[in-house]
Amino acid sequence: MIIIHKNTDDFKKERSKFSGSVGLVPTMGNLHNGHLSLLERAANENDHVILTIFVNPTQFGPNEDFNSYPRTLEKDIEQVTSLSNKFKDKTFVIFAPKDPKEIYPQGFSTTIQINGITDTLCGKKRPGHFEGVATVVYKLFSLAKAHKAYFGQKDYQQTLVIKKMVQDLDLPVNIVVCPISRNEDGLALSSRNQYLTQQQYPLALNLPKTLDKLENLLKEMTWTESFVKINALLEEQLNSDNWDYLEALDANTLTEVGPYTEEVLLAGAYYVNKTRLIDNRLVKINYA
Ligand code: AMP
Repeated sequence: MIIIHKNTDDFKKERSKFSGSVGLVPTMGNLHNGHLSLLERAANENDHVILTIFVNPTQFGPNEDFNSYPRTLEKDIEQVTSLSNKFKDKTFVIFAPKDPKEIYPQGFSTTIQINGITDTLCGKKRPGHFEGVATVVYKLFSLAKAHKAYFGQKDYQQTLVIKKMVQDLDLPVNIVVCPISRNEDGLALSSRNQYLTQQQYPLALNLPKTLDKLENLLKEMTWTESFVKINALLEEQLNSDNWDYLEALDANTLTEVGPYTEEVLLAGAYYVNKTRLIDNRLVKINYA
């Protein structure tokens, strides 16, 4: 069964009728197989699935693509309907606020800021982005009262931000991080991929290919052996203006890799013309 609500009060009423477990999948819509994999996992693990579709204005910078971000609600509903046919005994609720005022009513003046892990990568390059994300996700948690919430590893820093918020504010929700869905050629699925022209597409593949090379170096050698080669590759790549960032960091702290690092995050943000794509890899560090 699939139910759609576009206003907050109706959604709250709907939520109050549920008994049993609830899984939440927050998205900005324009669904692709990456989003659907999160929904499928949520449906497998819960009695009810709540999908939120909200292009959140507060997480976009002034020169970013808020206005042009693809909004395809009808098509999204079709995709969820066809997925829901595989889960006849589950309820799927789509909460797609018709207006940002449903989330940010007149006079809204709260923001949530997570410090430390937002100092690097997208946090550094997109000032205010994670405040926007944390605030809207907090609000969605509060409305959905979910037992579990599903996020993609694709936005790895975002998963750390949300986990930290949940831990620090003692929120009663379990965060589940799901693997990155990719095209066969390795490009991570993203709503922004459709901005790429046919000519630009091959250039975008430099993002996953570079991460592959870094990952292979880390896997083939010990950290001490690979360190110089990794830095040389990072330096060589960063000669190109396409990179917004490309870094190897401690995956837990998002600080420099050090003696206590267990896992390395290889993360890149890559511009193809005006389209900004992100991707990452997690690799266990090999000291032996
Ligand atoms: P978005 O609509 O882009 O904000 O994404 C909503 C959720 O889907 C976030 O938790 C993303 O990390 C996740 N997501 C986006 N792309 C992918 C992908 N290629 N594979 C898995 N999850 C994804």
